[in-house]
Amino acid sequence: MTDPRPPYRRILLKVSGEVLMGDAPFGIDMATLDAVAADIAAVVEGGIELCLVTGGGNILRGVSMAGRGMERASADYMGMLATVLNALALQSALEKAGVHTRVQSAIPMDAVCEPYIRRRALRHLEKGRVVIFAAGLGAPFFTTDTPAALRAAEMGCDALFKGTSVDGVYTADPKRDPKAKRYERLSYHEVLSKNLKVMDASAIALMRDNAIPIVVFSIRERGAFLNVLTGAGVHTVIGPDSLP
Ligand code: UDP
Repeated sequence: MTDPRPPYRRILLKVSGEVLMGDAPFGIDMATLDAVAADIAAVVEGGIELCLVTGGGNILRGVSMAGRGMERASADYMGMLATVLNALALQSALEKAGVHTRVQSAIPMDAVCEPYIRRRALRHLEKGRVVIFAAGLGAPFFTTDTPAALRAAEMGCDALFKGTSVDGVYTADPKRDPKAKRYERLSYHEVLSKNLKVMDASAIALMRDNAIPIVVFSIRERGAFLNVLTGAGVHTVIGPDSLP
């Protein structure tokens, strides 16, 4: 493997649930899961300390169940459990790829994984283990964007990478509007004031207050994670106004 010489020591990658379903309409596609794990393994091999937060949208989103008549809080708890399913799937695929991992859940479930303990998570990272944070914040009425931002701040990460199925932030939905243009760089303020649908506003504000840059890229593109880490590849960076 070539030396990526990333400008980061420790980062957090948020993996959207929808990425894990590949081209299927639902669930976890094993080939996609293994491909994502291989890309993550390549980054870990480069010596970076890595935290992961898994989404759950490939299995269940609280807001859509609520739209079909379920009580929102119950639906959100189901969504949080969906993120645990993805965390365990990713753990299994990463371990198969030779990466040491631990899953920590914000909702304790002793027989399945560790509970979230900040200091223990930090120790895992120092030992070179990838820590996968599951069950979001353990509280309803959030998506996994906010826990991704919170854990990035708590773990002292240098950047938050958002791996989705779109290769950056666009002026409009690129799947619907062929004239949509990708931003190379945005400030936190622009994202909030233009109401760009990148991440929840609470997540953007948390990253702004802690001066942690957000890098949005497509984790569906093979090798993109390593590429983007070195500043190459297609992506959008969100940071302070004064970012060069
Ligand atoms: N969720 C929650 N609290 C959290 C994180 C997640 O209630 O702190 C629930 C919420 O219902 C959400 C679901 O878990 O829709 C799955 O997460 P998300 O929608 O962020 O998944 P993604 O879109 O990243 O796949």
